[in-house]
Amino acid sequence: MGDANHVCPQCGWTFDTEALQNNTCKKCRSALLITSVAYLEKFDRPAIQKYVSRYNELLKSAPENRDALLSLGVCYLRLGLFDLADKFLARLVNAHPEDAAGYYYKAICCLKGRRPRTVSLNAIREAEQLILTAIVLEPGNARHDLLLAAVRHDYYILNGLRVPEPNPSELLNGIGGKYLDSREIEQAMALLSINDSPVFHVVRAAQN
Ligand SMILES: [Zn+2]
Repeated sequence: MGDANHVCPQCGWTFDTEALQNNTCKKCRSALLITSVAYLEKFDRPAIQKYVSRYNELLKSAPENRDALLSLGVCYLRLGLFDLADKFLARLVNAHPEDAAGYYYKAICCLKGRRPRTVSLNAIREAEQLILTAIVLEPGNARHDLLLAAVRHDYYILNGLRVPEPNPSELLNGIGGKYLDSREIEQAMALLSINDSPVFHVVRAAQN
């Protein structure tokens, strides 16, 4: 049918409903929608740029499309283009204010790839506010608690400052029973330039 909305961004194969449900192209096995940084784990820059052009094209006919706005935000984040990422994530939050993902990725974006302990208190407060909103909107997803724990540990504890409540231990102790995608958490930590954090111990323990 040549429906532009149903073409694999990586290989051009026209996908069906089953492939979309599995979010995997049957021909090249790529993810069709990049709605989490976890999907970008194995992709290099040219492959990510294919997603970017695909979703920019889609937005021309559907400017408020949730998946396209989120995918572009996530792809630009991964490419280190923080202003562009923020532009699409802001559009996502405006068009879909009930969607926690917009606030979650916007929080990662506002640190611009720098380690939390090295950024200004204003940037930390902005990130905390966004994550707290994501927690309210989607309390069952542990990635929000883990991101807040990582940011607060890195900024307040490592800088010897008084930690706001809930503190990192409270957040880490509270994730039992919540949904946890460990690849997503690892990618988020990489985007924040954090390579050591109590968050990693909790994620590893949850895997066993
Ligand atoms: Zn494909």
